[in-house]
Amino acid sequence: MYKISLITGDGIGPELSESAVSVINAINDKLGLKFDVTKLSAGDKALKESGKALPDETVDTIKKSDACLKAPVGESAADVIVVLRRILDLYANIRPAKSYPHMPALRDDIDMVIVRENTEDLYTGKEFSLGDSAVALRIISENASKRIAKYAFETAKQRNSTKKVTCVHKSNVMRITDGLFARSCTEVSKNYPDILFEQMYVDACAMNLIRQPEQFDVIVTTNLFGDILSDESSQVVGGLGMAPAANIGDNFALFEPVHGAAFDIAGKNIANPSSFLLSIKMMLDWLGAKNNDSKCLEVGQKLESTIFNLVKTGVKTKDIGGTKSTSEFTQAITNML
Ligand code: ATP
Repeated sequence: MYKISLITGDGIGPELSESAVSVINAINDKLGLKFDVTKLSAGDKALKESGKALPDETVDTIKKSDACLKAPVGESAADVIVVLRRILDLYANIRPAKSYPHMPALRDDIDMVIVRENTEDLYTGKEFSLGDSAVALRIISENASKRIAKYAFETAKQRNSTKKVTCVHKSNVMRITDGLFARSCTEVSKNYPDILFEQMYVDACAMNLIRQPEQFDVIVTTNLFGDILSDESSQVVGGLGMAPAANIGDNFALFEPVHGAAFDIAGKNIANPSSFLLSIKMMLDWLGAKNNDSKCLEVGQKLESTIFNLVKTGVKTKDIGGTKSTSEFTQAITNML
């Protein structure tokens, strides 16, 4: 049995969490795996109710679980996810962009992944005022850069693909910080002679994601660039409603959609739960690899192919050109599992 902690979040978070619990219950009932889910509060609602966006009990329960699922949280996101990434040392943020059938997408033949450094850069929150200026410290270390580069090459090694790593930075402007990132990735690349390695400036990468996205296999980049480029890559293949993410450390992992709380559509039962359900697929892959549990890998495959087959037959939510509500789409998945 696996213990799963679930942050239910704000905005569309509770609707996505309900969908996730229904799917996990179906996996428990029909597919011979056992997950025990504990719902936890964090985010805007938790801040209002308890005065803390990330209550201590939530952190304690997460630490005792085998993996964490996190629905999106609202304005207090930086006080929740950025803190969790740091205290759990979830240094690799993995954001796949994969084409599914019949999407309102720019391309239908893309299968790439962004490996985003998750602990440094402008996300350390070191900001202050200085005279009439505001200053933010951009921290890039050799240790974290090499660690994420290694993760990217290992990811490329395991993928059934062209096996290429593109290191994205802006070292022509940020010569010291991104210079260090680029040098660290280049050094790590020498340990992987069978994997192609290239470098690209972030502005060129943003353009090429539209112009020639098929050229990418694995992109490795710093925290802020990874955040921006993964929203863009998700749009290339079908939008944020189909975009999952994993935050991975050496001993623990947390899975969440790429998107935020989407308050504009909250409470309307129209959000696409696929981003969160595909995050469960990533969780199953991670648990399977960590525990040598082939059943998890098998169920993960099944969950993804169920979503694939549903959207192929036109069972889709509004954001990707369909008419199904969140609950109808979820029901279709649990029936098909
Ligand atoms: P954040 O800054 O926290 O990432 P954001 O303001 O960029 O949030 P998101 O919540 O990430 O906005 O989403 C942008 C828009 O995409 C939403 O306003 C919503 O219309 C759409 N969207 C996001 N997620 C979904 C989803 N799961 N289903 C349908 N539409 C979605």
